[in-house]
Amino acid sequence: MKSRVYFVRTAEADAAAAIQDKLRRLIKAGGVFDVLEPEQRAVIKIHFGEEGNNGYVRPELVRQITAEIRRRGAYCCVSDSNTLYRGRRTRSDEHVRLANEHGFSEETLLAPVVIPEDARPGNDVTVPVAGKFIQKANVLRLYTEADILVGVSHFKGHGLTGFGGTLKNIGMGCASREGKLAQHSEVAPFVFVEQCVGCGTCIPVCPVDAISMCEKTARIDSKKCIGCATCIAVCPHFAIQVDWSAGGKTIQQKMMEYVLAVLQDKKGRGIFFNFAVKITKECDCLAKDDPRVAPDVGIFVSDDPVSVDAAAYEQVTAACGKDIFRQLHPWCDGAKQLEYAEALGLGSREYELVEVR
Ligand code: SF4
Ligand code: SF4
Repeated sequence: MKSRVYFVRTAEADAAAAIQDKLRRLIKAGGVFDVLEPEQRAVIKIHFGEEGNNGYVRPELVRQITAEIRRRGAYCCVSDSNTLYRGRRTRSDEHVRLANEHGFSEETLLAPVVIPEDARPGNDVTVPVAGKFIQKANVLRLYTEADILVGVSHFKGHGLTGFGGTLKNIGMGCASREGKLAQHSEVAPFVFVEQCVGCGTCIPVCPVDAISMCEKTARIDSKKCIGCATCIAVCPHFAIQVDWSAGGKTIQQKMMEYVLAVLQDKKGRGIFFNFAVKITKECDCLAKDDPRVAPDVGIFVSDDPVSVDAAAYEQVTAACGKDIFRQLHPWCDGAKQLEYAEALGLGSREYELVEVR
């Protein structure tokens, strides 16, 4: 049986109140929250946007979702994970401050903002998964232990995966920093020697003593390194970096195996929104405003994470009259993630699109 994807059209000219009203109608018509029972704990996984970026899904829209969850007598929080790269979203305290600056707070959302700190023991969990590349996935416990996982994703382009929507938000976004590194790279991070001042801050944080000092410069022993990525976050001089291209060919497959790790025990307990609004070339990790590259299309919701991404991808392509993501990132076919996700049994690329008016 084909999965159902519910869809409401939006346009750039729509006022904020009009989009909120459309989202409320979509939630009601789709009935996707019927799976939620009173007292259950839902976790909304979102991207709060890097500093300077404004492509992220707006807090007033997320509030429509938290309001529906509360109306049904369930609890929820709004969450993101910390980043692998160095920026304001690398550590939880600063990440929460940035989320607040972008308008996400308990007052605006009717739900707390929760960003687990990777370094705190117990916040992550290793999940066995039957993947070709990943057999043990390191993900944040908050997401695996939620009764219901609600993905709220900005659908847009991405330099490594062609496009990013629900599958990327779950696969990369629910991973710990260690899990993100495992997906991004097949190698240990390296020290950019020109930037290293030999302060030694990175040495004591390494759990396997893989970092040593040699001629006043840090060195990483890649044979010892377990890829936890802690050193990247603590270096005050941005000297520890990741070879982003090293895992380029396999990143989409690894990411889908991480989606499997997060969702394998959540059959019928996932709700996935894609906001194909202010569609940009790059993801919301970009620390600046990224202009639109396609007309606004609308909001999609489904309990099938593959169908909801397939629908958004195809509707954006139809609105542009061409595959805008392939044009912007010619070396990267985003459709591969859909194909591999389907092969893993995560959902279906075939769906029935139900437009809500
Ligand atoms: S923390 Fe950074 S600057 Fe300091 S020794 Fe380590 S790599 Fe070099
Ligand atoms: S990634 Fe983790 S294990 Fe590898 S060198 Fe850095 S701190 Fe050590």
